[in-house]
Amino acid sequence: MKSSFRIPVIFTLLSILLYSCQEKRVKTEVINPEILESAFKQYKEKSIDNRRFGYQVIAPLIAKRHALFENNVLGESVEGRPIHLLSYGKGERRVLLWSQMHGNESTATMALFDLFNFLEGSAEDGFESIRQAIRENLYLRFIPMLNPDGAEKFKRRNAQQIDLNRDAVRQSSPEGIILKNVRDEFNPEFGFNLHDQNRYYNVEGSSLPATISFLAPAYNEAREVNAVRSKAMKVIVGMNHLLQQVVPGQVGKYNDSFEPRAFGDNIQKWGTSTILIESGAYPGDPEKQYIRQLNFMILLDALYGIATERYLNYTEEQYIAIPENDSKLMDLLIRNVETVVGDKAYLTDIGIKSSEEFLDSLILMKGNIVDWGDLSVYHGYQEIDANGMVLERGKIWTETIPLEKLTEKRALDLLREGYLAVATEKTNQGQAHQLPLVVFTEGNEPDVNTTLDKSPLFFLSKKGEKKMAIVNGHVIRLDNGENFSFWQLVE
Ligand SMILES: [Zn+2]
Repeated sequence: MKSSFRIPVIFTLLSILLYSCQEKRVKTEVINPEILESAFKQYKEKSIDNRRFGYQVIAPLIAKRHALFENNVLGESVEGRPIHLLSYGKGERRVLLWSQMHGNESTATMALFDLFNFLEGSAEDGFESIRQAIRENLYLRFIPMLNPDGAEKFKRRNAQQIDLNRDAVRQSSPEGIILKNVRDEFNPEFGFNLHDQNRYYNVEGSSLPATISFLAPAYNEAREVNAVRSKAMKVIVGMNHLLQQVVPGQVGKYNDSFEPRAFGDNIQKWGTSTILIESGAYPGDPEKQYIRQLNFMILLDALYGIATERYLNYTEEQYIAIPENDSKLMDLLIRNVETVVGDKAYLTDIGIKSSEEFLDSLILMKGNIVDWGDLSVYHGYQEIDANGMVLERGKIWTETIPLEKLTEKRALDLLREGYLAVATEKTNQGQAHQLPLVVFTEGNEPDVNTTLDKSPLFFLSKKGEKKMAIVNGHVIRLDNGENFSFWQLVE
């Protein structure tokens, strides 16, 4: 009697236990994006506010991490800058994250310092359950800024001119040797390879930029999927789910052709489930501070997903369904403008891409005409439908005007009179200005011929009236008043 009563009780208790396990599984499904956004706002590392920073900026941020992090120096770069390793957590699952192997790709490095702040956060901040799951299940190791020499000059390669991402096998660079040694000694289950991609990548079949792109790199020419690569794919699916809620349609997937020299492909081959994250562009975010936030959110979510094994809920098919990256974006696309060669008029599209130059905290965009003709398959961050407009050549004001007399009003008057460039004194060369035309010094007169591979400098006119000036790739609308804000240097 007694024992027959006990069995159903035990059975019921077991059912409750199983049910609550299922409950737990459901609870770990996703973290609400708003929670991740508020964690970012609270823990953002405020001493970094633009994407050009060198080792000196991160050195104090690394030095102060001794309470919860194990803090080691792995070795030195070619020019003798330390390369650091920060370790966190007491769990079993090993995860290695490395950023900025390309010196001018710093978005994820910023997010890693935000993440360190988060991991050191107060237990009373409302995020402790996330932090606890990570701390107790994972053993994290971070290499923030693998290429400090490149970062110093904001250049891709290291001081030997080596692209570190082609040095996984040959091992010619101290930085490449350091990364391989850490991988081999730590033998992580998961690896995060953190990069930036150029802003001309769009999501295939769409005009939207690939703000974040992913890849679970192939480990052989046949691009097979084994258990190691499959896990990387599933972690990516989780990050894609999150991003589709905040930047819908702005996630791409890299082509998975095997690159035998690259770290991602080889680390996958060596048995670590490797995830490539590429930070692209987001309109209106030239310093990539919003993309930094997105990096923080997906990294935190992915680590939580690994800690809770939530990633196992996803499938390889969901990974395959992420659209591919394409490269069909331009900075400025002018469609259907009438242009004349000799006595023949025809319609063309003009595609402009701009290179970035930096002057302290300023970003200067220098335009270049990169394509001409039928560009209907391309998209522009900025597009002008020039139907009914004619490309009109501008003039140059060669009489020197002192820079201090070149007010915005004077410059606009000159533009309306057909001048696109104005001479000033030699002493002002290299000075930054916000005037809506080209300012040059003796010997540096710009070319006002509009052709391929030249700086775009022309007017768009309608029935003889100048509607817009295109100056160095920037658009100045002359019909509806001043609407511009960009920096140039006196040439
Ligand atoms: Zn890169």
